[in-house]
Amino acid sequence: MGMAGHPHGIGSVRPVGWAYDRAPMIIYWELTNACGLACRHCRATAMPLPAPGELTTTESVDLLDDILGFDDPLPHVVFTGGDPLRRPDLDLLLREARDRGIGVSLAPAVTPLLTRERLAEVAQAGVQAISLSLDGSNAALHDGVRGVEGTFDSTLEALQWANELDVPVQINTLVTDTTAADLPAIYELLSTRTLLRWSLFFLISIGRGSQLTELSAGEAERLIVWLNGLARTAPFQVKTTEAMQYRRIAARAARRRGLSDAEIEASPMARGFGIRDGNGIVFVSHDGNVTPSGFLPLPVGNVKQESLVSLYRDEPTMRSLRRPELFKGRCGRCEFNLWCGGSRARAYAWTGDVLESDPLCPYVPEADRAMAHA
Ligand code: SF4
Repeated sequence: MGMAGHPHGIGSVRPVGWAYDRAPMIIYWELTNACGLACRHCRATAMPLPAPGELTTTESVDLLDDILGFDDPLPHVVFTGGDPLRRPDLDLLLREARDRGIGVSLAPAVTPLLTRERLAEVAQAGVQAISLSLDGSNAALHDGVRGVEGTFDSTLEALQWANELDVPVQINTLVTDTTAADLPAIYELLSTRTLLRWSLFFLISIGRGSQLTELSAGEAERLIVWLNGLARTAPFQVKTTEAMQYRRIAARAARRRGLSDAEIEASPMARGFGIRDGNGIVFVSHDGNVTPSGFLPLPVGNVKQESLVSLYRDEPTMRSLRRPELFKGRCGRCEFNLWCGGSRARAYAWTGDVLESDPLCPYVPEADRAMAHA
């Protein structure tokens, strides 16, 4: 069970206290915001053409050099977008990353640019895994979200090509109040295919996503309980993105099965413990802005002026995101906040405060229950 761990199963150094103070596990790097699709929930609010200020090839290579400053182990980098296939220098950057020992995964858009031949080329240049989005169990549902007819069939075709080329695939699925009912059918479809991991992204109402609606906290809880049961027999890993309470639900279920906390922490379910916006994750936008994640649009600096290493380690907002004792409300009082900590991005989207409680989680911490009974 991957939960919110490393998206591509590479690297698993567990930090003391679940705080990634020295280095993120994953750097999400938006190579461009140019994209041929117009997805209803796009974080990047992708455009047909590259935006001004996009990092040049030289600036991008400088950033790869900067990333080496994170020491050993190096973070894994996910080249995302927009559509990273729109970068003419993609293969060069892949080779430059590989030459530096930096592992890279790719999150391509499914457009005519994604061909079997192109996939083989990027794999050759060093791509270790890819992610593809699947937001519906049939063409009508998926293409409705993606905005371009034919994308459903092309996505399944790309999955097949990746299988043939031995490139591991993570399937990303958007969870909103309208897509949730289709998730069992998507699971059935995916169960007939070969993939490494199914990642369910719980919508945060930002970017184009603001036209869509998040689940209620109760609906999210029921869905994650279902996912946690599913994950025990699924033919692939199941994780959530921006629904960190999965860890609390999985851990409590494991305790009920008789596992001690030490056994839970030593098990694969703990792989993603602690990882959340700014703690184990950092995002670099197409024009170099650094934010705690792609879903938390609060720039803490820009790699054109400052080192990503020092921004990640030393910038005050980034530091605060790694200190659950500073969190407010239920996330601050919750006995699971080292393992979970809630979505800092959703807290920010709903309250404007990155340290507030995650409104998608209905959990009442033990401390609050004790107070109620006092
Ligand atoms: S209250 Fe916050 S820290 Fe606790 S389980 Fe819910 S989201 Fe996680």
